[in-house]
Amino acid sequence: MNILFMGPPGAGKGTQAERIVEQFGVPHISTGDAFRLAMKQGTPLGQKAKEFVDQGLLVPDEITNGIVRERLMLEDCGKGFLLDGFPRTIQQAEALDGMLAEMGRQIDHVINLKVDRGLLLARLTGRRICKSCGSTYHLEFNPPKQEGVCDKCGGELYQRSDDTEEKVGNRLDEYISKTAPLLGYYEDKGLLREVNGEKEIDEVTADIVSCLRGSGE
Ligand SMILES: [Zn+2]
Repeated sequence: MNILFMGPPGAGKGTQAERIVEQFGVPHISTGDAFRLAMKQGTPLGQKAKEFVDQGLLVPDEITNGIVRERLMLEDCGKGFLLDGFPRTIQQAEALDGMLAEMGRQIDHVINLKVDRGLLLARLTGRRICKSCGSTYHLEFNPPKQEGVCDKCGGELYQRSDDTEEKVGNRLDEYISKTAPLLGYYEDKGLLREVNGEKEIDEVTADIVSCLRGSGE
């Protein structure tokens, strides 16, 4: 089962992805992880990517696509994969289709988690992070037992400067405008499954599972 996960920041994509990979026994592949692995292993593409990253430059598509391709060819992807954070553009989507076709595979399902913009704003601006251990909390949905203090280590909680309403709003608008064409691309192929990400976490998982099981493998 080859799954693509899409959804704006704050839609709960990470949480749901973890649950789905556990149920379906496929690896969760985020572009960030694939990059870190390639750079750590020092593969030729990993080394090239590192040059761009070190200079603070955007890694060109050709390298990104290559790293994703190498990752998808690893043995643990034999039963399938859940890809998250890639593709981000139509060009990358076409490249992905091409590399999968080479492997005799294809995307089976594209899950798009839908959450209202206002709710996303509330979710993202309420996030607090522990300065010491990095644990994350949420003022509304997952508050610490004592305000401003980490349950796990007693560290001080802070709000990332990226989590202010203005920055979050800009990030969301950018995401929405960039991914709209991509959603259209997969809708045209009949692969897009929209899942309401506003429900309880367990219900969202159940909805995703039924989408994935619904039309078989
Ligand atoms: Zn902590």
